[in-house]
Amino acid sequence: MSTGKIGVTSNDLFPIIKKFLYSDHDIFLREIVSNAVDATQKLKTLASSGEFKGEVGELRVSVSIDKEAKTITISDNGIGMTQEEIEKYINQIAFSGAEEFMDKYKDQANAIIGHFGLGFYSSFMVSDKVDIVTLSHKEGAEAVKWSCEGNPEYTLEKVEKADRGTDIVMHISEEEEAFLEESRIQELLNKYCKFLPVEIAFGKKKEWKDGKNVDTDEDNIINDTNPAWTKKPADLKEEDYSDFYRQLYPMGEDPLFHIHLNVDYPFNLTGVLYFPKIKNSVEIQKNKIQLYCNQVFVTDSVEGIVPEFLTMLHGVLDSPDIPLNVSRSYLQSDGNVKKIASHISKKVADSLNDIFKNDRADFEKKWDDLRIFIQYGMLTEEKFYDRSKKFMLFKNTEGKYFTMEEYEAIIKENQTDKDSNIITLYATDVDAQYTYIEAAKAKGYDVLVMDSQLDNHLINHLEQKTPTTKYVRVDSDIIDKLIQKDEVKASKLTEAQRNDLIPVFNSHLPSGKVNYIVAFESLGADAQPLLITQSEFMRRMKDMAAMNA
Ligand code: ADP
Ligand code: MG
Repeated sequence: MSTGKIGVTSNDLFPIIKKFLYSDHDIFLREIVSNAVDATQKLKTLASSGEFKGEVGELRVSVSIDKEAKTITISDNGIGMTQEEIEKYINQIAFSGAEEFMDKYKDQANAIIGHFGLGFYSSFMVSDKVDIVTLSHKEGAEAVKWSCEGNPEYTLEKVEKADRGTDIVMHISEEEEAFLEESRIQELLNKYCKFLPVEIAFGKKKEWKDGKNVDTDEDNIINDTNPAWTKKPADLKEEDYSDFYRQLYPMGEDPLFHIHLNVDYPFNLTGVLYFPKIKNSVEIQKNKIQLYCNQVFVTDSVEGIVPEFLTMLHGVLDSPDIPLNVSRSYLQSDGNVKKIASHISKKVADSLNDIFKNDRADFEKKWDDLRIFIQYGMLTEEKFYDRSKKFMLFKNTEGKYFTMEEYEAIIKENQTDKDSNIITLYATDVDAQYTYIEAAKAKGYDVLVMDSQLDNHLINHLEQKTPTTKYVRVDSDIIDKLIQKDEVKASKLTEAQRNDLIPVFNSHLPSGKVNYIVAFESLGADAQPLLITQSEFMRRMKDMAAMNA
């Protein structure tokens, strides 16, 4: 047996690792399992290049708990390590990574690391002692055991090990004993390892027998090694995408449609994004997208990583260029991540445009569910606005859909004010504004339905973008600019009668919320006895105030 001191450092980094390395101690499992997966992938690569001539066999990682010994063991039949490799990769390099990290992030306790190659040492967050028992794939290699008790000293000795590969044995510390529960580990494997590319076995499959759960002979494989996003879009059917959706969100209703991302230049990015069906805005849940790095789960808190409006989408994004194990603030400021984000936004706009062009009828059918994403995107991202101008739809009170360009062509002859601005009329409540809609239609005007909560913001945005097009609510007081004064029929009531009636109507109107104006005039062919209108300006002011409240 030999002993040694880890790395070249004079500081004892272990207390820091234990306390601060990750805010989430959970992550140790992901690190150790993904190292095991890496080892099997490396062996595969060596075998296919002819460098490894032995029997590859079925590559496999297994996770097991020994409650009595208080250990968790992760075993793989990957490349293994020789004594020299342990000295290099575990004792020196990994630790110099730690030092580099500490220099850089002295003040930022939980910003991190895998980045610097400290993944393996995360095992010490939950362990008093960690053993590596490993046999290299190299011919004539001897098995070695490395052991370390969470201080800079380690031991290294020759041992017997029959099979190629590595066992990482973590002796779980007293305060972390919760990790020795099967259900806890199962939960973490589901979270982090569900789509790793090599089979991960955890215990045996259970079977319900004689009133209780018993183990079968079959290994319990916790992952799907070949998830939809890793395949070619051409190899997948519509059904495969909905199956995958249900795999991700077992309770979810079928989504509107999906976008399969498959980019290899200027960075690698794959993924499937789904537009979920949202019935009302209360149901919007952000952060349903899962972020992966080479099929290893990184995070599902994607705010600040993907553009804001895309956080409402569902699905998976995978990129080896997304740094693993780093804090959210690091991710948000990373240049690569920024590029990825703006690319995703572009891809989403392009795909929407394709769907619009290829099957407009279907696009229109989905519009009412879709518009919240698109409108939100247009409001919050300049580039997305420019891209989606082409397919953003207006719906009129007849239920017909138009692009902005189409709509302008229709109304520009008839609907202009004295300054030649184009006037777009809209209704926010088709039932309540029925009379006004009818009156406008009788004049040959068209009226849009703009009743979503984002429409208000969108209208302001559109007016800023195209100041020569004005948006006027169909029941507002400025509508009379469209209508010649002499067409407005005066009321037949006397002034005294009117003055008596005003308080009667006012007492029935919602107070405090909006400024209503009772006017004894009427529009259009089937003259109404009177109009109740709102000041467009006051109404917008109030709406804005309510939105910002
Ligand atoms: P990284 O995975 O980023 O390289 P880690 O700290 O997780 O950094 O691991 C350090 C190194 O230890 C790995 O690069 C690898 O060479 C070696 N290693 C760790 N686990 C295994 C394993 N199960 N089999 C073979 N080598 C391993
Ligand atoms: Mg690693």
